[in-house]
Amino acid sequence: MDRLWSPWRYAYVKAERPEGCVFCGALSRTDGPENWVVRREPHAFVILNIYPYNSGHVMVCPSRHVTQLADLTADEGAALFSLAARTDRALRTTMAAEGVNLGANLGRAAGGSIDHVHLHLVPRWTGDTNFMPVCAETKVMVQMLDATWDRLRAADWGGVAQ
Ligand SMILES: [Zn+2]
Repeated sequence: MDRLWSPWRYAYVKAERPEGCVFCGALSRTDGPENWVVRREPHAFVILNIYPYNSGHVMVCPSRHVTQLADLTADEGAALFSLAARTDRALRTTMAAEGVNLGANLGRAAGGSIDHVHLHLVPRWTGDTNFMPVCAETKVMVQMLDATWDRLRAADWGGVAQ
């Protein structure tokens, strides 16, 4: 795939990491700009990536702090993938994504920086590798996070059995 150029991620690379798990911390806070959680379900949730590779970049996580895929129960694994499937649909319907990259970096050696298992979903549009650098200002990205949170929060999350 073409590589997305995302200079705003430099702030993330440079940032000091907070104590504890950022995903468990986010779950303990109110949904909105406090934590950027767009969808909560009993076994899984969706959270915006605040240093996105593209507008609408989200992560789908198990609600329980699990560091290995193999540690998920069958119910948790099914709930995680069900929510990932509906997140794919939500990105296509609310943001008109033409495609979605789905992936996971399992372990530090694979590029993982947060131990809590999570799947990345990055919406893609034809030509976005050319477009995104144009809106690389941090201020613009923060406004995009607000708008993205509102749109995804209002998505139709039903239709796939839990
Ligand atoms: Zn955690």
